[in-house]
Amino acid sequence: MDTKTCDASVVTDLRVNGERLWQSLMDLAKIGATPKGGVCRLTLTDLDRQGRDLVISWAREAGLSVTIDKIGNVFMRRAGRNNMLPPIMTGSHIDTQPTGGKFDGNFGVLAGLEVIRTLNDYDIETEAPVELAFWTNEEGSRFVPVMMGSGVFAHIFTLEHAYAAKDIDGKTVGEELARIGYIGDEEPGDHPIGAYFEAHIEQGPILEDKEITIGVVQGVLGIRWYDCVVTGMEAHAGPTPMELRKDAMQVAARIMQEVVAIAHRFGPHGRGTVGMVQVFPNSRNVIPGQVTFSIDFRNMTDALVDEMDAALRAYVGTVEQETGLGVAITQVSHYPAAPFHPDCKDAVRRAAQRLGYSHMDIVSGAGHDAVYMSMLAPAGMIFIPCKDGISHNEIEDTQPEQVTAGTNVLLHAMLERARVV
Ligand SMILES: [Zn+2]
Repeated sequence: MDTKTCDASVVTDLRVNGERLWQSLMDLAKIGATPKGGVCRLTLTDLDRQGRDLVISWAREAGLSVTIDKIGNVFMRRAGRNNMLPPIMTGSHIDTQPTGGKFDGNFGVLAGLEVIRTLNDYDIETEAPVELAFWTNEEGSRFVPVMMGSGVFAHIFTLEHAYAAKDIDGKTVGEELARIGYIGDEEPGDHPIGAYFEAHIEQGPILEDKEITIGVVQGVLGIRWYDCVVTGMEAHAGPTPMELRKDAMQVAARIMQEVVAIAHRFGPHGRGTVGMVQVFPNSRNVIPGQVTFSIDFRNMTDALVDEMDAALRAYVGTVEQETGLGVAITQVSHYPAAPFHPDCKDAVRRAAQRLGYSHMDIVSGAGHDAVYMSMLAPAGMIFIPCKDGISHNEIEDTQPEQVTAGTNVLLHAMLERARVV
């Protein structure tokens, strides 16, 4: 085929090789394979190095040029016709949780490799270069913070901060990166991106429950964490009549109910969770004098999280007045929402439509490297179902047809942005 006169039908009919992709997923999953069928390949271990080496060897076989930055992020590039254009990038991570599965992260990386192998098979030339990346330490189980490589790349935290992070044995990221030979030359972030797509298993139950193949990810929810302390007065559960009590538990219970009610009011993506509770003195015949609990609020935009915050504080003010008990709310963490770019969401939706896959809009309640990429370039994500919504577990599973479908969507979304010559 003459790539210079590549006609539209060739591109429209283009499909990835699902068997080759599945085989690559199974081959990569052998490195760090666990007896229960999962993968334990913690970041910056010898196994991580073997995984990195394998993916890079596949990239070189596919004719890609490889660059590595100082935090060990790896970029594998297929040249375009105009190499002055920033690349259309895809990627994810190949590190896993201690009880990880074969697909979390690995699917996104090998889907990107399969997209490039397919372009090679059919000799398709793109205007912009196409790049595949894998990011260091997305999981954060050995070294904190999570999404470290993409975070350093996006200048959310410094290289020095990341290098100094220690695991439980006192080994640092800097030492371990050097030991496995993955400190590259490139300054993190010194690498323009035209657009970024990430394919990932959903890690939740929605697509499977609705029997839908493709999730068009609208964004990643913003998160706000609080500690809440209700102070009353401990007293004997028998002699103290109901109207003379200062029962911290009863007031805490009202606020906990309201946390959930607020999440429902700010739907469809509002989330409200009380996951930790401590009762003082925690005795069956003492009226609780103090209750401390956590609040986790999430929503699609920072403005909605702000409104949930205001609703909570207003309710707490009313309860304090009604009961005379003191309630202290302290915000302990905050992660901004990452709405994805309309052009990228549309590209994913159009690709799913053209390919005839069932699809729906969905949000991500979990963080991904695409969060940080969305601060640098138009970004979007593609979700595929995973069995029972389970991930970070050795039983994590998904079907070959779903993996193939997600990768076909990735291919067509990327081609729309990279433009076939
Ligand atoms: Zn992941």
